[in-house]
Amino acid sequence: MCLAAAASAFSSSRCLSPSSSSALPRRFLHHLLAAPPPPPPLRCIPFHRMAQFWTQGSLDKNKALVEYLKQYGAVRTDKVAEVMESIDRALFVAEGLTPYTDSPMPIGYNATISAPHMHATCLELLKDHLQPGMHALDVGSGSGYLTACFAMMVGPEGRAVGIEHIPELVAASTDNVQRSAAAQLLKDGSLSFHVADGRLGWPDEAPYDAIHVGAAAPEIPQPLVDQLKPGGRMVIPVGSYFQDLQVVDKNDDGSVTVRNDASVRYVPLTSRSAQLQDS
Ligand code: SAH
Repeated sequence: MCLAAAASAFSSSRCLSPSSSSALPRRFLHHLLAAPPPPPPLRCIPFHRMAQFWTQGSLDKNKALVEYLKQYGAVRTDKVAEVMESIDRALFVAEGLTPYTDSPMPIGYNATISAPHMHATCLELLKDHLQPGMHALDVGSGSGYLTACFAMMVGPEGRAVGIEHIPELVAASTDNVQRSAAAQLLKDGSLSFHVADGRLGWPDEAPYDAIHVGAAAPEIPQPLVDQLKPGGRMVIPVGSYFQDLQVVDKNDDGSVTVRNDASVRYVPLTSRSAQLQDS
């Protein structure tokens, strides 16, 4: 997808998305009850304007990408900007690709590193649940980028756990993090990666303040809900072809509130054999 199209799709999907937990999503109510609302103004930044950021030195390119995401509205807080600036995306993307483009990229094994605007969106949704000392679980950790961001946010007293079912990706994500600003956290054990089926979560460090799922589940896996702390939040894409990024908040009485944040497109949360069968 071209950059402008990706930005446009992101922008419009966010505007169309319901933000409440009503049984019938608001976008369907629009179709039933009223003429559709006028199209939202695009927040998309023209490609030539983004390209101006790339003329800086290579070490500044990651910072320029974050600046772009700020202008585009995906990065909204200093906290998320700081962590994304501290973890250089180029370390998590194969050489020869363009790490500072706002696009998902292949990492092998029918998997992708998510687009920067999706990383930013998930960090913004989870930031209050990634305070120093908190526990975070990243299911489908892939390249390790987002797990590294979580680790930087929860710090040495916290826990950031990445679960990935492809052993080669766990090895690669470990290498990636070792070259990043989160290397010491990996060394000290507050950041860890494990080869496992993420649909079962990772009970060893539960309960979690924050759970992120980086692959689309047909429905919310109950073990993940069980491993969420009361007051905790999970962000998970749900669906097959049509997917919603769902925000699952666990209330103090153990009940959960679910709302849709955006229409999204992720690789499936599935078995290892199903994922690899077409590779
Ligand atoms: N957030 C990651 C996303 C990687 S793509 C990143 O930006 O790099 C989704 C990942 O989920 C893939 O690496 C895939 O291998 C993994 N995955 C899919 N199903 C899984 C499962 N059942 N258990 C663990 N990982 C899974």
